[in-house]
Amino acid sequence: MRGFKSFADKTVVEFKQGVTCVVGPNGSGKSNITDAVRWVLGEQRIKTLRGSKMEDVIFNGTKHRKSLGLAEVKLVFDNVDHFFPLEYNEISVTRRVHRSGESEYQINGMPCRLKDIRELFMDTGIGREGYSIIGQGRIDEILSSNKDERRMLFEEAAGIIKYKSRKEESERKLKATHENLVRIQDILSEIE
Ligand code: ATP
Repeated sequence: MRGFKSFADKTVVEFKQGVTCVVGPNGSGKSNITDAVRWVLGEQRIKTLRGSKMEDVIFNGTKHRKSLGLAEVKLVFDNVDHFFPLEYNEISVTRRVHRSGESEYQINGMPCRLKDIRELFMDTGIGREGYSIIGQGRIDEILSSNKDERRMLFEEAAGIIKYKSRKEESERKLKATHENLVRIQDILSEIE
């Protein structure tokens, strides 16, 4: 993290195998670490990140330090077991936002779309809708959610979200193609 919320300077957090505990006084930035993970995975809902506008994730200065113009978070995964279907032994995702509003995503240093990040983490439990980060109140929310909402969680764990999303995309394309065909038919009948 660099310039993200309270982390003005470059800060590296290592999550080793097993349990990692983050301990610190109130307001010292523990939750900002999970915010950083959610954010780099493509979170767009600023409320989930406890802010009111996207700019709120950029370090906004303290009594002793000027605010910064850029927030950056990079999440690096060990991929030696090829859990992610890419040939690399290490996968990194990066997100940056400038105070001007300009923003970018990268996978292994290559610029990409938010859609690519979403697809990479789909069905892994890690993505935006995943269950790898359980925030305060989330358990209650799951228990009191309706059956359709709860089903989404099971579908993510079962690994079928990817296929559902591809099916929806194909259905959209089919619909557009069908509409184009109708239009062509109209033009053809006008010509004849
Ligand atoms: P608690 O134990 O009370 O839950 P915490 O350790 O989880 O606290 P966080 O909520 O992660 O703390 O951090 C809050 C701190 O982050 C506050 O001091 C707030 O001023 C600071 N902070 C949040 N956004 C920014 C920002 N954009 N720039 C600088 N500091 C920020």
